[in-house]
Amino acid sequence: MNNVVILGGGPAGLTAAIYAARANLNPILIEGLQPGGQLTITTDVENYPGFSEGIDGPKLMMDMHAQAERVGTKFISGAATKADLSKSPFKIELDGETIEAKTLIIATGAQARWLDIESEKKLNGKGVSACATCDGFFFRGKEVCVVGGGDTAIEEAIYLANLATKVTVIHRRDELRASKAMQKKVLDNPKIEFAWNSVIDEILDVEKGEVTGVRLKDTKSGELRNISCDGVFIAIGHTPNTNIFKGQLDMDDVGYIVTSKSSMSTSVKGVFAAGDCQDKDYRQAVTAAGTGCMAAIDAERFLQEM
Ligand code: NDP
Repeated sequence: MNNVVILGGGPAGLTAAIYAARANLNPILIEGLQPGGQLTITTDVENYPGFSEGIDGPKLMMDMHAQAERVGTKFISGAATKADLSKSPFKIELDGETIEAKTLIIATGAQARWLDIESEKKLNGKGVSACATCDGFFFRGKEVCVVGGGDTAIEEAIYLANLATKVTVIHRRDELRASKAMQKKVLDNPKIEFAWNSVIDEILDVEKGEVTGVRLKDTKSGELRNISCDGVFIAIGHTPNTNIFKGQLDMDDVGYIVTSKSSMSTSVKGVFAAGDCQDKDYRQAVTAAGTGCMAAIDAERFLQEM
């Protein structure tokens, strides 16, 4: 029987592990399919406090892992395939084995949705990104495109307009999904243009190994046209990794776990959630780490009360 089982080895899970281990709770951390989380596919992280020269994403995660290990976290590789939260102890299944926990911290993260075209995969990290706050800085004084018409796309476009010389928002319809308040901000911004009724047919130029533009397809006429740009930001939504908890915890309609306003507790007592699996608004490494810390402190208090 374990005091604390943490699911997910990104910044939220590892920070929860550091705090739980230092509170002498002997946490077990199940790393998931992408140990280190989304930061392992980022190059320079320049917005994580404490690194005046920035830090490589994978290096930051390796250091967090080493820190969690040094203070006493036990790591298990692999991903949980099933969870039973119906009663305490909670049961997590992994590789045919069942792990029992008095408290559970879910830090399974989220995945950016991608267009799923070949050029996007080949140019990922070479001008194609899904996070303006992470990578926008590299496009100062350059031209970029943002794909999507929701709040994320518009927020990214506004953020990028402060850095880039021109931002083209590519949207598959002629009407934005984003809130009216957000729309007003973007439609008034002289640096932001729109490519309506358009989808990306291909990102150019795979042969050069860098982004030089995009080939757009008109969704109505099927007509193709090229526009030049130095970066492409995909902002067509995220999917939280919460499938195995569906029907067992309160979630919003996309699948983000609902946590209490004043703590990281979920609708099941003893189950806490941290990081991107419960946060659709901020989605930063530092906020994930912060909520991971909160979840561990909440778990410790819960165990004390038990
Ligand atoms: P949304 O699902 O709201 O929007 C996704 C956008 O991407 C839509 O415009 C959609 O087009 C488009 N899209 C989806 N799939 C494709 C595809 N394959 N090709 C081209 N375009 C595609 O996701 P968001 O991430 O924008 O927002 C998620 C939630 O988070 C929302 O509830 C939002 O309000 C919230 N949020 C709030 C913020 C804030 O308040 N500051 C900031 C960011 C997010 P279509 O419209 O045609 O479906």
